[in-house]
Amino acid sequence: MSLAMRECRRCGHVVFPPRPLCPSCGAWDWKERLAERGVVEAVTSRKDLRLASVRTEAGPVVTAVAPGGALQVGTAVALESREGVGVSGEGVQVRILPLEPAQAPRDV
Ligand SMILES: [Zn+2]
Repeated sequence: MSLAMRECRRCGHVVFPPRPLCPSCGAWDWKERLAERGVVEAVTSRKDLRLASVRTEAGPVVTAVAPGGALQVGTAVALESREGVGVSGEGVQVRILPLEPAQAPRDV
């Protein structure tokens, strides 16, 4: 279970969602970078949805629909991509699953 991101081969900048040019150095030479985990930085409500902003281990912040239950700032989550239409339009959506406390990395 992971989320595929793009890492610039020239400068190492990681972006999500994918874009044609690196916003850091302007190159367009990418390699795949997988992110498996992240940490919730914010939880907000929009209409009847709860959205979580998650800082991924690869760097970029992604937005995902928060699952029910005890999700709060600082919660470690697993990242998963899924196809479909979601909060930010069509394309690759991000799904998050809270990790058990025992699995949560303590250094993030
Ligand atoms: Zn770059």
